[in-house]
Amino acid sequence: MTQKILAAHAGLPNVKAGQLIEASLDLCLGNDITAPVAINEFERCGGCSVFDKSRVALVMDHFTPNKDIKAAQQVKRVREFAGKHDIENYFDVGRMGVEHAILPEQGLVGPGDCVIGADSHTCTYGALGAFSTGVGSTDLATAMATGKAWFKVPSAIKVELTGRLPKYVTGKDVILHLIGMIGVDGALYKSLEFAGDGVASLSMDDRLCIANMAIEAGAKNGIFPVDSVTLEYVSGRFRREVRVFEADSDAEYERVITIELSSLRPTVAFPHLPENTRTIDECGGQVKIDQVVIGSCTNGRLEDMRAAAEILKGRKVAKGVRCIIIPATQQVWLDSMREGLFEIFIEAGAAVSTPTCGPCLGGHMGILAAGERAVSTTNRNFVGRMGHVDSEVYLASPYVAAASAVTGYITDPASL
Ligand code: SF4
Repeated sequence: MTQKILAAHAGLPNVKAGQLIEASLDLCLGNDITAPVAINEFERCGGCSVFDKSRVALVMDHFTPNKDIKAAQQVKRVREFAGKHDIENYFDVGRMGVEHAILPEQGLVGPGDCVIGADSHTCTYGALGAFSTGVGSTDLATAMATGKAWFKVPSAIKVELTGRLPKYVTGKDVILHLIGMIGVDGALYKSLEFAGDGVASLSMDDRLCIANMAIEAGAKNGIFPVDSVTLEYVSGRFRREVRVFEADSDAEYERVITIELSSLRPTVAFPHLPENTRTIDECGGQVKIDQVVIGSCTNGRLEDMRAAAEILKGRKVAKGVRCIIIPATQQVWLDSMREGLFEIFIEAGAAVSTPTCGPCLGGHMGILAAGERAVSTTNRNFVGRMGHVDSEVYLASPYVAAASAVTGYITDPASL
C-alpha cells in the first residue's frame, strides 16, 4: 500500500523497496521546535516563496503557551514567517492543538496523501490510509520551497489483526504489544502495514494511536487500509480528493505478524524503552507512582478523555499523586467540556491543561523530579524524557493511567 502511494506521487507506474524516488507532497509540517531551523535554511536560499501556502502547516505545540523566553522567541520567529508567507494553516495559542491530533481533526491530511513533517510522530496519519513520515528540519525547508521530497522506498511488514479488543483494552495496548514483540528496531525503515478482519473493529482514535507509535518500532511509517470507518471520519472535514490505495493480494512482505485482538491484555511499557512491555497482570499493584499524564498526540483525543472519565467518575485521585489531563486540541477540549468530562476530572482531583505537548517531552506542565515515577499515555519513556534523568516513565492507555491515578500504583482498570 505504501509503495503504491509513493509510486503515484513520484509519477511512476510502480516502485521497489530500496529505490530512491522524488515524490510530490500533499502537505508538509513543522512545529515550534523544528520550524525555526527550517525557516533559517529556507531563507538562506534568498527570495524563496513557499510552494503552496495551503499545503504548509505550522503548529506551535511543544513549548506553548510559551514556557520561557527562548520558546517565545522561537514561536515569534515562526509566527512572523507564517504572516509573511500567508500560511493558511498556522496554529497558535487559542487555535492550537498537538500537531498529530489537529491535522487529522481539521481535515488537513487524508487517504492517499503523501505527507512529511519535521517531527518523528508524523507517521500518525497512516491511520487514514496516507503515507506520512518524519523528516529533519532541512528536508522541511526544501519541501516548503519545492513541494517535493526524496525517499528510499521501504519494504513492508504485514500486521494481521484478527478478532476484537476486550473491555479496557485499546489501540495503545495493541501497539505496545507489537513493539514488545518485535522491539524498538523491529521494523527499522520498513512500512508497518496493518490488515485483517480486526481492523474494522478499531475506532479511528485507536488507529491514530497505533500508527502514531509505528516509529517506536523504528518503522518508516505505519498504515491502515481505507474502510468505512476512515471514510466516515474524513467525510465533511477532508477537502482534497480521497484516493484509496489497496495492497495487492499477492503483495510481498518481509514478514507477517498475526495478533489476535481478543487475547490482548492492558499493557504497560516499563522504563526506559517502549519495548519493555508487561501485561497488567505482571505489574498490577506493585509499582508506586507520583504522577499521571493523560494526553499527547498518542492519547489526547476524545475517546481517551472519555476512557479517563469512565474510570475517574465518582472516584478520587490518590493522595500524593498528581493527575494531569491534557486534551490534545481545542476541539477535544470543547467536546470534553460539553460532555461534562471536566467536572468529573476536577471532582476527582485532577488538573486539566490547555492543549500542549508540555510534559510529554519534559517541556513544561508537569516535569518529574529525581526518583519520581509517572504513568503516561504518551509514546516515549526514554531516560529523562519527562524530566530528571533519574525519573521513570511507564507508558500505558488512558484506562490504565486513570486507574493508576486512583490507587497510586499501576493498576488494572478492571480491578476497581
Ligand atoms: Fe512529540 Fe509528545 Fe508532542 Fe506528540 S505530544 S508531538 S510525541 S512532544
